[in-house]
Amino acid sequence: MKIYVIGHKNPDTDSVASAIGYAELLNQTGREAEALIAGDLNKGTALALKKFDLQSPRNAAEVQFAEESVVLVDHNEAGQWVDGLVKEHVIELIDHHRFGDFSSAQPIYVRTQPVGSTSSIITKMYREQDKVPTTGTAAMMLTAILTDTLMFKSPTTTDFDREMADWLNKIVRLDMILHAQEIFKAKSDISGMKMTDIINKDFKEFHFNSKYRVGVAVFETVDVSGPLARKEEFFDALTKIKTEKQLDYLIFSIVDIINQISYVLVTSDEEADILTKVFGKKINLDIMELPGIVSRKKQIIPPLEEYFASLS
Ligand code: MN
Ligand code: MN
Repeated sequence: MKIYVIGHKNPDTDSVASAIGYAELLNQTGREAEALIAGDLNKGTALALKKFDLQSPRNAAEVQFAEESVVLVDHNEAGQWVDGLVKEHVIELIDHHRFGDFSSAQPIYVRTQPVGSTSSIITKMYREQDKVPTTGTAAMMLTAILTDTLMFKSPTTTDFDREMADWLNKIVRLDMILHAQEIFKAKSDISGMKMTDIINKDFKEFHFNSKYRVGVAVFETVDVSGPLARKEEFFDALTKIKTEKQLDYLIFSIVDIINQISYVLVTSDEEADILTKVFGKKINLDIMELPGIVSRKKQIIPPLEEYFASLS
């Protein structure tokens, strides 16, 4: 039976590349597999695919999943699963995030490591099985390691990620930092995008303490001045998204990846209260500036989780 490998909703480069990488590894070991995407590509991923002459994976919406046919990569929490997926479909999970509410219908394979990207883990799996990815696949996984680790500057970065990137770059052979800058520049381009689309592009939903639905969206950019100048438009969009998705709280952060600062747009008094308790910084003109905070998974989600866990 054909296996589908799929990353999270609002796919980033790692969700696309780790799906491509793992589907190819399965193919190389004689199994039929296809990578899928759970939504539209961001501009950085689209540029990388074009640069390496690859087709975009098909959208998961085109596919009907059978029981025991899906490998989840780069996520585990149900709030981030593609629509239509149920746990009876899932046979394997490969990830580098915290475990939220994940549970499975039957015994499954699980591989997680607290490293900078899922693509690093997939690369290691190639090496363990003495396989080598094709150049395009290697290039996508390398791009994913570079973007997920913010060019090795995010606190999520480990030596393991650097080692896997170096191994991939023996196949791809490019200037890693120049390449990553090109991808981040494309990803930072908000021209022609609606505010709601910019927020939704890297939006994740978390369920804390079994009852709080919290959306945490980030926009990573090499130039914050453009988006910050349009903050009023973002606030309108945030209010709309919060209602539409029926969230208890919605937090949106514009992340300056060059200077390593998060600018959190404070959606309403409810978020202001939580952000003040969790991060203890002053809010100025509806923005809380958080120097040194760039990683949602390592620096934003854990203190939020702890805060919600402390509520009865
Ligand atoms: Mn991801
Ligand atoms: Mn990732």
